[in-house]
Amino acid sequence: MSLQSRYDILFEPVRIGPVVSRNRFYQVPHCNGGGYRDPSAVAEMRRVKAEGGWGVVFTEQVEIHHTGEITPYIELHLWDDSDVPMLARMADGIHEFGALAGIELAYSGINGPNLYSREVPMSATALPVRTFTSDPVSAREMTRRDIRDLLRWHRNACKRARSAGYDLVCLYGAHGFGVIQHFLSRTTNQRTDEYGGSLENRSRLMKELLVECRDAIGDQCAITIRLALGEMTNGLGLSNSEIRDLIALHSDLPDLWDMAQGDWESCSGPSRFKEEGAQQELVSGLRDLTDKPIVGVGRFTSPDLMVKQIQSGVLDMIGAARPSIADPFLPNKIREGRMEDIRECIGCNICISGDMTMSLSRCTQNASFMEEWRKGWHPERVPEKGDSRSVLVVGAGPAGLEAARVLGKRGYEVVLAEARSAVGGRVALERKLPGLATWGRVADYREYQISQTDNVEIYLHSELTASQVLEFGFQHVAIATGATWRRDGVARYHVTRMEMDDSVTFLTPDDVMNGACPSGRVLVFDDDHYYMGGVIAELARQQGAEVSLVTPAARVSEWTVNTLEQASIHCRLVEQGITLITGQAVTRIRNGVAELSCAYTARQDHMEIDTLILVTAQVSNTKLWHALESRSEQWADQGIRTVRLVGDALAPAPIAWATYAGYRYAQELDSPEPGDDPPFRREIVTLNSGA
Ligand code: ADP
Ligand code: SF4
Repeated sequence: MSLQSRYDILFEPVRIGPVVSRNRFYQVPHCNGGGYRDPSAVAEMRRVKAEGGWGVVFTEQVEIHHTGEITPYIELHLWDDSDVPMLARMADGIHEFGALAGIELAYSGINGPNLYSREVPMSATALPVRTFTSDPVSAREMTRRDIRDLLRWHRNACKRARSAGYDLVCLYGAHGFGVIQHFLSRTTNQRTDEYGGSLENRSRLMKELLVECRDAIGDQCAITIRLALGEMTNGLGLSNSEIRDLIALHSDLPDLWDMAQGDWESCSGPSRFKEEGAQQELVSGLRDLTDKPIVGVGRFTSPDLMVKQIQSGVLDMIGAARPSIADPFLPNKIREGRMEDIRECIGCNICISGDMTMSLSRCTQNASFMEEWRKGWHPERVPEKGDSRSVLVVGAGPAGLEAARVLGKRGYEVVLAEARSAVGGRVALERKLPGLATWGRVADYREYQISQTDNVEIYLHSELTASQVLEFGFQHVAIATGATWRRDGVARYHVTRMEMDDSVTFLTPDDVMNGACPSGRVLVFDDDHYYMGGVIAELARQQGAEVSLVTPAARVSEWTVNTLEQASIHCRLVEQGITLITGQAVTRIRNGVAELSCAYTARQDHMEIDTLILVTAQVSNTKLWHALESRSEQWADQGIRTVRLVGDALAPAPIAWATYAGYRYAQELDSPEPGDDPPFRREIVTLNSGA
C-alpha cells in the first residue's frame, strides 16, 4: 500500500446530520485566553486552522446567557444580538477555506460563579459553585420554570448561531463545565422530580435541550453534543458504563457524539501523565451503540494512530485541540505526505495556562498561535528577508533553534553555533527527566527543519568567544546562550544569598541533569513553583535517595495549577514516598542541619540532611554578551549591525517564552525598531452611547 493511500481514510468526507465535513479532522472546541476580549484574534486563529485543512473548526465554549458565566475566565459570549457579529466574523473566516464552522453553546450552571453579572447561579441541585478558585458562592436549585427559561435561552442562542452562519451547534456537557453534565451526574443532581434519580430522568434536560435546539436551528445545521466519558469524582460521579447506557438510550438524538474524558484535568492531561490516545479504553465500543459519528480526542499527532482509530472502528473523526494548536496545518501535511514537517504537540499544557491566567494563550511549539491577527504571524509563512544578509546565532537551545529555523526560512545566511555536542540546550537535558521525553520534540522538529535548508549551518562543539564573534563579522548576532540555575538560594523567598556552610552537598537542577546523583537524605527546596522541583524530587527518589520537598507555597509545584497538572504532580510525589512540606522555606544550612521557617509565622523546624537541591531561580548566561558589549566600538568595523540577547539569555522563563523570543527575533529582523506604542493590534470596545 502506498504511503498516500494508507492515510486516504482520514480524508474521506463524513456526513454529520445535514452537513458534510470534507475529511475526518475535527478541531474540537478549545479555549485560548482571548474570547470576547480579543474576538478578531480568535477569529483569525480559527481561520488559519481552516486553511490548514481541518474539516470542522469549532469555537471555544460560548456562554449563552449572562446567568451562567465563568468570570474571571475569558470565553466567548452569545448573550444577545450584539454578540452575533464577532461570532459571524469567525464563521466567515472558517468558511473561507472550506471547513465547517461549529459553535459550542455552554450554560455554566454550578460552574459559573457569575462574578461579572452578579446573578445568582443556578444548577440542578443547590450546592456551592464548583470552580477552580472555590468561590464562596452557592448555586440555587433550578425550578421547572427556570428549566423552561433555559430551553428558551438555548433556542435564542441557536437562532443567533444560525444567523452568525454556523453549520454545527454543539451542546456542552463535558469536563464538569456544562449544565447538561451537572444534570447527568448524581454528584451535582440530587433532585427528586422528573429531572433527577434514574438515568432516564437525569438525561431529560439533555433530551429536551437537543429537541428544542433542533427545532430552533432547522434542517440546515447539525446538532452535536460534547459529553464526559465519565467522572473521576466520588462514588456518585458519572461512570463510563452509565455513559454507554445514555448513548444507547438516546442514540439518534444528536447528529454526532463528541466524547471527552472526565474532568478537564484528565481530558487535557499533559504528556508527563498521559500518553497519546489515552482515552482509547473509555471510548472503545461506543461506535456500536449509535449510528451517529463518534469524535474522540487523545492529543493525536501520529497519522498512523489516527488511521488505527478509524480502521478499528473506535472513532469516526479525529478530534484535536492541542495538536491543532501546535500545528494548524496538520491535516494538509498528512495529505501531502509531509509527515516529518508536522510540528508535534509536546503536551506541556502551556496553551492552557493562557486561559487559566486570562491572558492570550501561547504554544511552546507554535509561536504564531494567537498572534495571527495581532501581529500578522502565520504558522507556515514568514516574510522574505530584509536588506541584510547574514546572521550568527549563538546557542542552539529552543530560542536559538527557532531563530535559526525562521531566519533560514526567510532567506538569510545563518550560522548556528553551539558549545555542546548536540542541539537542544535545556531541552536536550530536560527531555531525559522523568516524564519529559516528549518535550524533546522542541529540538527534534527544529533540527530537522534546519537540516532541510541549505542556508543554515549548525556548528557543534563551538563555544564562541567575543573575539571569534567579532572576527566572523556577521551582520547580526543573536546571543541565545540560555540560563543557569542559581546555587545561592536566591529566588522569591530569599532575595539575597541564603546562609549556608559547606556541611552538606549542594546541587542545582543543572548538576542533576548533567549527571550528579543526589544521595542520602535529600532535601529539595522549591522556590521556583513550576515543574522542575517536582521532577527533580522524582528523579532523586528513583535514584534511591530519601527525598523531602519543601516549598514556601501552599501547594507543591503551585504554578502547575495553570497547566492542569498540580494534582497529578502531588499524587505522583506522594505515591513515590516523597515527603511534602508546604508553607515553609529553607532559611539556613549549618552543621548538616537545614533550618526550615514557616512562611507565615516565626515557627521553625530542623531537618538533618546530606544533600540540598536548590530549585530556586535561573540567571541568564551573559558572559559573551558583556564581552561583546565592552567592545561595541569595534562592531561597525567588523560589519556588525546589531547584537541582541534572545530567550533565557535575556531573562529566564519557560520554554514557550524562548521559542517565542527566537521566532520574534527572526520575524522582526530588518524591521523598523518598535516605537512607544504596543507592537500588536488590539480590540478596543466601542463606547456605549448610554441610550
Ligand atoms: P534558551 O531556552 O533561551 O534557548 P538554552 O539554555 O536552552 O536557552 O540554550 C542555550 C544554549 O546555548 C545551550 O545549548 C548552551 O550550550 C549554548 N551556549 C551557551 N554559551 C555559548 C557560547 N558562548 N557559544 C556557543 N553556545 C553557547
Ligand atoms: Fe501542545 Fe504545549 Fe503547544 Fe499546548 S502549548 S499545543 S500542549 S505544545
